[in-house]
Amino acid sequence: MRLGVSTLLFSSRHIVDAVREIASLGHQRIELFCELPGLDVDTVTDDTIQRLAGLADEYELEYSIHPPLVNTAALDEGERAVAIHKYRATLALAGRLDIRDMVIHSGQKPCMQVDVGESRELARRTLRAVGETARNVGVRLLLENTGWHEHAILGAPGDLLELAEAACPPDTGILLDTGHAVLQHFDVVGCARLWLPRLAQVHAHDNAGQFDEHLPLGEGVIDWSSLIGLLVGAGWDGVFMLELGTGDDASRRLADSLDLVARCAGTGCAGR
Ligand SMILES: [Zn+2]
Repeated sequence: MRLGVSTLLFSSRHIVDAVREIASLGHQRIELFCELPGLDVDTVTDDTIQRLAGLADEYELEYSIHPPLVNTAALDEGERAVAIHKYRATLALAGRLDIRDMVIHSGQKPCMQVDVGESRELARRTLRAVGETARNVGVRLLLENTGWHEHAILGAPGDLLELAEAACPPDTGILLDTGHAVLQHFDVVGCARLWLPRLAQVHAHDNAGQFDEHLPLGEGVIDWSSLIGLLVGAGWDGVFMLELGTGDDASRRLADSLDLVARCAGTGCAGR
């Protein structure tokens, strides 16, 4: 497996500074998170795009992109139109930066009055619309498990595969977000095993079982040794993207997480 680092780690910094910091630590696979300053998909400047492209050349970076946070399964037509617009604007940005992979959320149940079946139908509509654009611009979607507790939209891990089959382009990859799987009461290793044939990326972060804390690996309830053992043992060649939250001691928390990955992976990990 290949390691990557998300710019979520430096979410209060300008996107260019966040990328430069991660690249200077020696990482080449970087997730551009569209909630960072400077990367609003509707207002991003040519200068920012040029500087991101320049960093990619200088450090031989491989970007993937995470759209702004919208609900794929929004009930309100206007809100869902905005979600589709944001996803398409992210695809356009991906095209300008030669990015091959874009994350897309499975969505979340919008309110109590809408049942899970209806919520999933709303998500399917958005995924079909965005999927068509993705296909046209040659970007692969990575469908990520989202929605938990009263907003749960997936009843079981197999529902994510069903959503991908029913509504996404055939080349869509599955993205296992480890922290989300915990909050969805799914067995993280079981998800990885089930999704492995289509698993393109892992969003690696930890939590204590209640909130989406994006903690460093090993500071929550996830059994990293079993998960990484499974992935390495299977010869999985997807991207293990560290998606840690922001904090004062970001570099240390990243280093601690990388140490844990190295310990769990033995020699099977393809470095940075
Ligand atoms: Zn994620």
